Amino acid sequence: MSGATALDTSTALDVFDRRESEVRGYIRAFPTVFDRATGSTLVDADGREYLDFFAGAGVLNYGHNNPAFTRALIEYLERDGIIHGLDMATSAKKAFIEAFERLVLEPRGLDHKLQFTGPTGANAVEAALKVARQATGRSTVVAFTNAFHGLSMGALAATGNSHYRSAAGVGLDDIARLPYDGYLGAGVDTLDLFEKMLDDPGSGLDLPAAVIVEAVQGEGGINVASAPWLQRLRAITAERGILLILDEIQAGVGRTGTFFAFEHAGIVPDIVTVSKSISGSGLPMSLVLLRPDVDVWKPGAHTGTFRGNNLAFVSARVALETYWVDSAFTEGVAAKGELLRGHLERIAAEHPELGFVPRGRGLMQGLACDADRTLAGRVSKEAFQRGLVIETSGAFDEVLKFLPALTITEDELERGLAIVRESLAAALAA
Ligand SMILES: *Cc1c(COP(=O)(O)O)cnc(C)c1O
Repeated sequence: MSGATALDTSTALDVFDRRESEVRGYIRAFPTVFDRATGSTLVDADGREYLDFFAGAGVLNYGHNNPAFTRALIEYLERDGIIHGLDMATSAKKAFIEAFERLVLEPRGLDHKLQFTGPTGANAVEAALKVARQATGRSTVVAFTNAFHGLSMGALAATGNSHYRSAAGVGLDDIARLPYDGYLGAGVDTLDLFEKMLDDPGSGLDLPAAVIVEAVQGEGGINVASAPWLQRLRAITAERGILLILDEIQAGVGRTGTFFAFEHAGIVPDIVTVSKSISGSGLPMSLVLLRPDVDVWKPGAHTGTFRGNNLAFVSARVALETYWVDSAFTEGVAAKGELLRGHLERIAAEHPELGFVPRGRGLMQGLACDADRTLAGRVSKEAFQRGLVIETSGAFDEVLKFLPALTITEDELERGLAIVRESLAAALAA
Protein backbone atom coordinates (compact mmCIF):
# COMPACT_ATOMS: atom_id res chain seq x y z
CA MET A 1 0.00 0.00 0.00
CA SER A 2 1.42 3.38 -0.95
CA GLY A 3 1.95 6.07 1.67
CA ALA A 4 -0.61 8.28 -0.02
CA THR A 5 -3.31 5.63 0.25
CA ALA A 6 -2.63 5.08 3.95
CA LEU A 7 -2.85 8.82 4.61
CA ASP A 8 -6.10 9.14 2.67
CA THR A 9 -7.66 6.45 4.82
CA SER A 10 -6.76 8.21 8.05
CA THR A 11 -8.91 11.28 7.35
CA ALA A 12 -11.77 9.35 5.78
CA LEU A 13 -15.04 10.04 7.54
CA ASP A 14 -16.90 6.88 6.48
CA VAL A 15 -17.14 5.40 10.00
CA PHE A 16 -18.74 8.63 11.23
CA ASP A 17 -21.19 8.61 8.32
CA ARG A 18 -21.96 4.96 9.02
CA ARG A 19 -22.24 4.97 12.80
CA GLU A 20 -22.49 8.44 14.28
CA SER A 21 -25.94 9.92 14.82
CA GLU A 22 -27.32 12.49 12.42
CA VAL A 23 -27.06 14.93 15.32
CA ARG A 24 -23.36 15.42 14.60
CA GLY A 25 -22.64 19.04 13.80
CA TYR A 26 -19.17 20.59 13.61
CA ILE A 27 -17.79 17.56 11.78
CA ARG A 28 -19.93 18.70 8.85
CA ALA A 29 -18.45 22.20 8.80
CA PHE A 30 -14.87 20.99 9.31
CA PRO A 31 -14.77 17.60 7.58
CA THR A 32 -11.46 16.03 8.51
CA VAL A 33 -10.09 13.85 11.31
CA PHE A 34 -8.18 16.07 13.73
CA ASP A 35 -5.30 14.39 15.45
CA ARG A 36 -3.31 16.83 17.55
CA ALA A 37 -2.98 20.51 18.34
CA THR A 38 -0.80 23.08 20.02
CA GLY A 39 -1.54 26.75 20.64
CA SER A 40 -3.60 28.00 17.69
CA THR A 41 -2.67 25.18 15.31
CA LEU A 42 -4.72 22.05 14.69
CA VAL A 43 -3.20 19.13 12.78
CA ASP A 44 -5.30 16.50 11.07
CA ALA A 45 -4.46 12.84 10.65
CA ASP A 46 -2.92 13.61 7.27
CA GLY A 47 -0.53 16.06 8.86
CA ARG A 48 -2.35 19.04 7.36
CA GLU A 49 -2.23 22.15 9.59
CA TYR A 50 -5.15 24.45 10.32
CA LEU A 51 -5.03 27.78 12.06
CA ASP A 52 -7.74 27.89 14.72
CA PHE A 53 -10.01 30.97 14.89
CA PHE A 54 -12.69 28.97 16.72
CA ALA A 55 -10.96 27.79 19.90
CA GLY A 56 -13.56 25.15 20.74
CA ALA A 57 -16.33 27.80 20.79
CA GLY A 58 -14.49 29.59 23.55
CA VAL A 59 -13.21 26.58 25.52
CA LEU A 60 -9.59 27.08 24.53
CA ASN A 61 -8.89 30.68 25.53
CA TYR A 62 -5.33 29.68 26.45
CA GLY A 63 -4.80 27.65 23.25
CA HIS A 64 -4.57 23.92 22.66
CA ASN A 65 -2.37 21.86 24.97
CA ASN A 66 -0.83 24.82 26.71
CA PRO A 67 2.48 23.37 28.00
CA ALA A 68 2.01 24.92 31.46
CA PHE A 69 -1.18 22.92 31.94
CA THR A 70 0.05 19.73 30.29
CA ARG A 71 3.01 19.56 32.65
CA ALA A 72 0.83 20.09 35.74
CA LEU A 73 -1.69 17.48 34.57
CA ILE A 74 0.99 14.86 33.89
CA GLU A 75 2.57 15.47 37.30
CA TYR A 76 -0.81 15.15 38.98
CA LEU A 77 -1.55 11.87 37.15
CA GLU A 78 1.88 10.48 37.95
CA ARG A 79 1.52 11.10 41.66
CA ASP A 80 -1.89 9.35 41.67
CA GLY A 81 -3.81 12.54 42.49
CA ILE A 82 -7.57 12.06 42.94
CA ILE A 83 -9.31 12.00 39.56
CA HIS A 84 -12.89 11.53 40.70
CA GLY A 85 -14.20 12.48 44.10
CA LEU A 86 -17.87 13.45 43.67
CA ASP A 87 -17.97 16.67 45.64
CA MET A 88 -15.68 15.50 48.41
CA ALA A 89 -12.87 17.80 49.43
CA THR A 90 -9.62 17.16 47.57
CA SER A 91 -6.35 19.00 47.62
CA ALA A 92 -6.79 19.90 43.92
CA LYS A 93 -10.22 21.42 44.56
CA LYS A 94 -8.98 23.26 47.65
CA ALA A 95 -6.09 24.79 45.71
CA PHE A 96 -8.43 25.87 42.90
CA ILE A 97 -10.90 27.55 45.28
CA GLU A 98 -8.06 29.36 47.04
CA ALA A 99 -6.60 30.57 43.73
CA PHE A 100 -10.03 31.66 42.44
CA GLU A 101 -10.68 33.53 45.68
CA ARG A 102 -7.29 35.25 45.64
CA LEU A 103 -6.95 36.02 41.91
CA VAL A 104 -10.54 36.48 40.72
CA LEU A 105 -13.02 37.17 43.53
CA GLU A 106 -11.04 39.30 45.99
CA PRO A 107 -9.46 41.71 43.46
CA ARG A 108 -12.97 42.40 42.09
CA GLY A 109 -14.58 42.77 45.52
CA LEU A 110 -16.91 39.81 44.92
CA ASP A 111 -18.14 37.89 47.98
CA HIS A 112 -19.88 35.18 45.94
CA LYS A 113 -19.85 31.50 46.93
CA LEU A 114 -18.90 28.80 44.45
CA GLN A 115 -21.27 26.03 43.44
CA PHE A 116 -19.65 23.26 41.41
CA THR A 117 -22.20 21.71 39.05
CA GLY A 118 -22.00 18.93 36.52
CA PRO A 119 -19.34 19.72 33.94
CA THR A 120 -21.29 21.37 31.09
CA GLY A 121 -22.40 24.94 30.75
CA ALA A 122 -26.03 23.85 30.58
CA ASN A 123 -25.62 22.25 34.02
CA ALA A 124 -24.50 25.57 35.47
CA VAL A 125 -27.41 27.39 33.83
CA GLU A 126 -29.92 24.82 35.16
CA ALA A 127 -28.54 25.27 38.67
CA ALA A 128 -28.63 29.07 38.37
CA LEU A 129 -32.26 29.09 37.22
CA LYS A 130 -33.27 26.58 39.88
CA VAL A 131 -31.67 28.46 42.76
CA ALA A 132 -33.05 31.79 41.52
CA ARG A 133 -36.57 30.34 41.50
CA GLN A 134 -36.05 28.84 44.96
CA ALA A 135 -34.59 32.00 46.43
CA THR A 136 -37.45 34.21 45.18
CA GLY A 137 -40.35 31.75 45.24
CA ARG A 138 -41.21 32.96 41.72
CA SER A 139 -41.08 31.04 38.44
CA THR A 140 -40.78 33.44 35.49
CA VAL A 141 -37.29 34.15 34.21
CA VAL A 142 -36.66 36.84 31.63
CA ALA A 143 -34.34 35.88 28.79
CA PHE A 144 -33.45 37.90 25.73
CA THR A 145 -33.76 37.61 21.97
CA ASN A 146 -30.88 35.66 20.42
CA ALA A 147 -29.79 34.37 23.83
CA PHE A 148 -27.95 31.07 24.04
CA HIS A 149 -27.88 29.37 27.43
CA GLY A 150 -27.55 25.68 26.54
CA LEU A 151 -29.82 22.88 25.37
CA SER A 152 -31.03 20.99 28.46
CA MET A 153 -34.72 21.75 29.04
CA GLY A 154 -34.48 24.62 31.52
CA ALA A 155 -31.57 26.21 29.68
CA LEU A 156 -33.21 25.57 26.30
CA ALA A 157 -36.32 27.43 27.45
CA ALA A 158 -34.07 30.47 27.91
CA THR A 159 -32.32 29.96 24.55
CA GLY A 160 -33.83 31.88 21.65
CA ASN A 161 -32.90 29.98 18.49
CA SER A 162 -35.87 28.13 16.93
CA HIS A 163 -33.58 25.47 15.41
CA TYR A 164 -32.72 24.32 18.95
CA ARG A 165 -36.12 25.05 20.50
CA SER A 166 -37.99 22.97 17.93
CA ALA A 167 -36.08 19.85 19.04
CA ALA A 168 -37.47 20.02 22.59
CA GLY A 169 -40.71 18.08 22.20
CA VAL A 170 -42.14 19.56 25.41
CA GLY A 171 -43.27 23.00 26.44
CA LEU A 172 -40.45 25.42 27.18
CA ASP A 173 -42.17 27.27 29.94
CA ASP A 174 -41.67 29.92 32.59
CA ILE A 175 -39.57 32.18 30.39
CA ALA A 176 -40.55 35.66 29.24
CA ARG A 177 -38.70 36.89 26.14
CA LEU A 178 -37.58 40.50 25.84
CA PRO A 179 -35.49 42.36 23.25
CA TYR A 180 -31.73 42.44 23.86
CA ASP A 181 -29.79 45.68 23.61
CA GLY A 182 -29.84 46.93 20.01
CA TYR A 183 -32.58 44.52 18.89
CA LEU A 184 -34.80 47.37 17.71
CA GLY A 185 -32.00 49.47 16.24
CA ALA A 186 -29.50 51.89 17.66
CA GLY A 187 -32.00 54.56 18.71
CA VAL A 188 -34.19 52.37 20.95
CA ASP A 189 -33.42 51.50 24.57
CA THR A 190 -35.12 48.12 24.78
CA LEU A 191 -35.23 48.33 28.58
CA ASP A 192 -37.97 50.96 28.26
CA LEU A 193 -40.26 48.05 27.36
CA PHE A 194 -39.10 45.89 30.27
CA GLU A 195 -39.50 48.68 32.80
CA LYS A 196 -42.93 49.64 31.48
CA MET A 197 -44.11 46.01 31.55
CA LEU A 198 -42.85 45.49 35.10
CA ASP A 199 -44.75 48.51 36.36
CA ASP A 200 -47.97 47.88 34.40
CA PRO A 201 -50.34 45.37 36.03
CA GLY A 202 -51.94 44.93 32.61
CA SER A 203 -48.73 43.91 30.82
CA GLY A 204 -49.13 40.18 31.40
CA LEU A 205 -45.58 39.92 32.69
CA ASP A 206 -45.47 38.26 36.12
CA LEU A 207 -42.82 39.59 38.47
CA PRO A 208 -39.79 37.54 37.39
CA ALA A 209 -37.54 35.51 39.67
CA ALA A 210 -34.55 36.47 37.58
CA VAL A 211 -33.17 37.91 34.39
CA ILE A 212 -30.53 35.87 32.57
CA VAL A 213 -28.28 37.70 30.13
CA GLU A 214 -24.98 37.44 28.24
CA ALA A 215 -22.86 40.62 28.29
CA VAL A 216 -21.82 39.69 24.75
CA GLN A 217 -23.99 37.12 22.97
CA GLY A 218 -21.81 34.42 21.42
CA GLU A 219 -24.01 31.95 19.56
CA GLY A 220 -26.64 34.64 18.98
CA GLY A 221 -24.40 36.65 16.64
CA ILE A 222 -21.78 38.55 18.69
CA ASN A 223 -24.24 41.13 19.96
CA VAL A 224 -22.76 43.46 22.56
CA ALA A 225 -24.78 44.90 25.43
CA SER A 226 -23.62 48.44 26.16
CA ALA A 227 -22.38 49.37 29.62
CA PRO A 228 -25.27 51.82 30.23
CA TRP A 229 -27.79 49.13 29.20
CA LEU A 230 -26.30 46.58 31.61
CA GLN A 231 -26.15 49.20 34.36
CA ARG A 232 -29.80 50.07 33.82
CA LEU A 233 -30.72 46.36 33.80
CA ARG A 234 -28.89 45.98 37.12
CA ALA A 235 -30.77 48.96 38.57
CA ILE A 236 -34.19 47.80 37.32
CA THR A 237 -33.68 44.31 38.75
CA ALA A 238 -32.15 45.45 42.05
CA GLU A 239 -35.03 47.87 42.72
CA ARG A 240 -37.58 45.06 42.39
CA GLY A 241 -35.81 42.12 44.02
CA ILE A 242 -35.30 40.38 40.67
CA LEU A 243 -32.07 38.37 40.56
CA LEU A 244 -29.61 39.17 37.80
CA ILE A 245 -27.83 36.17 36.28
CA LEU A 246 -24.86 36.87 34.01
CA ASP A 247 -24.12 33.93 31.73
CA GLU A 248 -20.33 34.25 31.33
CA ILE A 249 -19.89 30.78 29.86
CA GLN A 250 -18.59 32.04 26.51
CA ALA A 251 -17.76 35.71 27.11
CA GLY A 252 -15.97 35.10 30.42
CA VAL A 253 -12.44 34.07 31.37
CA GLY A 254 -10.74 36.95 29.58
CA ARG A 255 -12.46 36.63 26.21
CA THR A 256 -13.61 40.27 26.05
CA GLY A 257 -10.51 41.69 27.72
CA THR A 258 -11.56 41.43 31.38
CA PHE A 259 -11.96 38.24 33.41
CA PHE A 260 -15.75 38.62 33.39
CA ALA A 261 -17.39 40.41 30.46
CA PHE A 262 -19.73 42.22 32.89
CA GLU A 263 -16.78 44.01 34.54
CA HIS A 264 -16.81 46.44 31.63
CA ALA A 265 -20.13 47.78 32.96
CA GLY A 266 -18.99 47.84 36.59
CA ILE A 267 -22.02 45.87 37.74
CA VAL A 268 -22.23 43.09 40.33
CA PRO A 269 -24.56 40.24 39.33
CA ASP A 270 -26.36 38.09 41.91
CA ILE A 271 -25.49 34.89 40.06
CA VAL A 272 -22.79 34.15 37.46
CA THR A 273 -22.40 31.00 35.36
CA VAL A 274 -18.87 30.04 34.26
CA SER A 275 -17.74 27.08 32.17
CA LYS A 276 -16.05 26.65 28.76
CA SER A 277 -12.55 28.10 29.36
CA ILE A 278 -12.45 27.95 33.15
CA SER A 279 -10.39 24.73 33.26
CA GLY A 280 -7.96 26.23 30.74
CA SER A 281 -7.02 22.84 29.35
CA GLY A 282 -10.31 22.03 27.65
CA LEU A 283 -11.32 19.58 30.37
CA PRO A 284 -15.00 19.93 31.29
CA MET A 285 -15.75 22.09 34.32
CA SER A 286 -18.54 24.43 35.38
CA LEU A 287 -19.38 26.61 38.29
CA VAL A 288 -22.02 28.99 39.50
CA LEU A 289 -21.16 32.02 41.59
CA LEU A 290 -23.83 32.88 44.12
CA ARG A 291 -24.18 36.01 46.21
CA PRO A 292 -24.25 34.59 49.77
CA ASP A 293 -27.92 35.49 50.40
CA VAL A 294 -28.92 33.74 47.15
CA ASP A 295 -27.18 30.54 48.24
CA VAL A 296 -30.39 29.01 49.61
CA TRP A 297 -29.55 25.42 48.66
CA LYS A 298 -30.18 22.66 51.20
CA PRO A 299 -27.16 20.32 51.49
CA GLY A 300 -27.14 17.91 48.55
CA ALA A 301 -30.26 19.43 46.97
CA HIS A 302 -28.60 19.73 43.58
CA THR A 303 -26.17 16.89 43.01
CA GLY A 304 -24.44 15.30 40.03
CA THR A 305 -21.84 12.56 39.74
CA PHE A 306 -19.28 14.65 37.90
CA ARG A 307 -19.06 17.79 40.00
CA GLY A 308 -15.46 17.16 40.87
CA ASN A 309 -13.33 16.91 37.75
CA ASN A 310 -10.11 17.18 39.71
CA LEU A 311 -7.89 17.24 36.62
CA ALA A 312 -9.87 20.29 35.52
CA PHE A 313 -9.29 21.88 38.95
CA VAL A 314 -5.55 21.37 38.49
CA SER A 315 -5.32 23.07 35.10
CA ALA A 316 -7.84 25.75 36.14
CA ARG A 317 -5.63 26.70 39.07
CA VAL A 318 -2.49 26.77 36.93
CA ALA A 319 -4.32 28.94 34.36
CA LEU A 320 -5.20 31.49 37.04
CA GLU A 321 -1.70 31.45 38.48
CA THR A 322 -0.12 31.78 35.02
CA TYR A 323 -2.31 34.42 33.38
CA TRP A 324 -4.18 36.32 36.10
CA VAL A 325 -1.42 37.46 38.45
CA ASP A 326 -0.85 40.75 36.59
CA SER A 327 -2.35 42.74 33.69
CA ALA A 328 0.00 41.53 30.90
CA PHE A 329 -2.51 38.96 29.63
CA THR A 330 -5.49 41.32 29.46
CA GLU A 331 -3.33 44.02 27.83
CA GLY A 332 -2.39 41.48 25.16
CA VAL A 333 -6.06 40.63 24.58
CA ALA A 334 -6.89 44.34 24.23
CA ALA A 335 -4.06 44.92 21.72
CA LYS A 336 -4.92 41.87 19.63
CA GLY A 337 -8.62 42.74 19.85
CA GLU A 338 -7.88 46.17 18.36
CA LEU A 339 -5.75 44.64 15.63
CA LEU A 340 -8.57 42.24 14.74
CA ARG A 341 -11.20 44.98 14.85
CA GLY A 342 -9.08 47.22 12.60
CA HIS A 343 -8.97 44.46 9.98
CA LEU A 344 -12.73 43.90 10.20
CA GLU A 345 -13.41 47.64 9.81
CA ARG A 346 -11.17 47.71 6.72
CA ILE A 347 -12.83 44.63 5.20
CA ALA A 348 -16.21 46.31 5.77
CA ALA A 349 -14.97 49.55 4.17
CA GLU A 350 -13.67 47.65 1.13
CA HIS A 351 -17.13 46.14 0.49
CA PRO A 352 -19.70 48.89 1.09
CA GLU A 353 -22.21 47.01 -1.10
CA LEU A 354 -22.34 44.14 1.42
CA GLY A 355 -23.11 46.34 4.43
CA PHE A 356 -20.81 44.37 6.73
CA VAL A 357 -21.22 45.23 10.39
CA PRO A 358 -18.12 44.52 12.52
CA ARG A 359 -19.01 44.08 16.18
CA GLY A 360 -17.80 42.54 19.41
CA ARG A 361 -15.32 43.21 22.18
CA GLY A 362 -11.78 41.99 22.81
CA LEU A 363 -11.16 38.72 20.99
CA MET A 364 -14.87 38.02 20.60
CA GLN A 365 -15.65 39.70 17.29
CA GLY A 366 -18.08 39.17 14.46
CA LEU A 367 -18.56 40.36 10.90
CA ALA A 368 -22.29 40.40 10.24
CA CYS A 369 -23.72 40.42 6.73
CA ASP A 370 -27.49 40.88 6.52
CA ALA A 371 -27.45 41.68 2.80
CA ASP A 372 -26.25 38.14 2.01
CA ARG A 373 -26.99 35.79 4.87
CA THR A 374 -25.26 32.78 3.32
CA LEU A 375 -21.97 34.63 2.80
CA ALA A 376 -20.49 33.92 6.25
CA GLY A 377 -21.04 30.19 5.78
CA ARG A 378 -19.47 30.29 2.33
CA VAL A 379 -16.44 32.18 3.66
CA SER A 380 -16.08 29.65 6.51
CA LYS A 381 -16.11 26.83 3.95
CA GLU A 382 -13.53 28.49 1.70
CA ALA A 383 -11.40 29.25 4.77
CA PHE A 384 -11.37 25.62 5.85
CA GLN A 385 -10.07 24.63 2.41
CA ARG A 386 -7.30 27.18 2.91
CA GLY A 387 -6.34 25.89 6.35
CA LEU A 388 -8.36 28.11 8.70
CA VAL A 389 -11.05 26.95 11.12
CA ILE A 390 -13.61 29.73 11.59
CA GLU A 391 -17.29 29.43 12.58
CA THR A 392 -20.48 31.36 11.95
CA SER A 393 -23.14 32.44 14.43
CA GLY A 394 -26.40 34.38 14.56
CA ALA A 395 -30.03 33.40 13.93
CA PHE A 396 -29.33 33.03 10.20
CA ASP A 397 -25.67 31.98 10.57
CA GLU A 398 -25.05 35.35 8.96
CA VAL A 399 -22.16 36.36 11.22
CA LEU A 400 -18.56 35.27 10.66
CA LYS A 401 -17.33 34.65 14.19
CA PHE A 402 -13.76 35.46 15.22
CA LEU A 403 -12.95 33.60 18.43
CA PRO A 404 -9.20 32.88 18.38
CA ALA A 405 -7.30 31.70 21.44
CA LEU A 406 -6.36 34.68 23.61
CA THR A 407 -2.78 33.42 23.42
CA ILE A 408 -2.70 33.67 19.62
CA THR A 409 0.30 35.61 18.29
CA GLU A 410 -0.13 38.77 16.19
CA ASP A 411 1.55 36.90 13.32
CA GLU A 412 -0.99 34.10 13.50
CA LEU A 413 -3.82 36.61 13.70
CA GLU A 414 -2.51 38.40 10.57
CA ARG A 415 -2.04 35.08 8.78
CA GLY A 416 -5.60 33.98 9.57
CA LEU A 417 -7.02 37.34 8.51
CA ALA A 418 -5.19 37.09 5.19
CA ILE A 419 -6.92 33.72 4.68
CA VAL A 420 -10.27 35.32 5.56
CA ARG A 421 -9.72 37.96 2.85
CA GLU A 422 -8.79 35.33 0.26
CA SER A 423 -11.78 33.24 1.29
CA LEU A 424 -14.12 36.20 1.03
CA ALA A 425 -12.84 36.97 -2.47
CA ALA A 426 -13.31 33.31 -3.44
CA ALA A 427 -16.82 33.16 -1.93
CA LEU A 428 -17.84 36.33 -3.79
CA ALA A 429 -16.34 35.09 -7.07
CA ALA A 430 -17.99 31.65 -6.91
C1 LIG B 1 -21.86 27.17 25.31
C2 LIG B 1 -22.78 27.99 26.14
C3 LIG B 1 -23.67 27.43 27.06
C4 LIG B 1 -23.87 25.93 27.19
O1 LIG B 1 -22.73 25.25 27.52
P1 LIG B 1 -22.67 23.65 27.21
O2 LIG B 1 -21.38 23.23 27.81
O3 LIG B 1 -22.69 23.52 25.71
O4 LIG B 1 -23.84 23.05 27.84
C5 LIG B 1 -24.43 28.28 27.84
N1 LIG B 1 -24.32 29.61 27.73
C6 LIG B 1 -23.48 30.19 26.86
C7 LIG B 1 -23.40 31.68 26.79
C8 LIG B 1 -22.70 29.40 26.01
O5 LIG B 1 -21.90 29.98 25.10
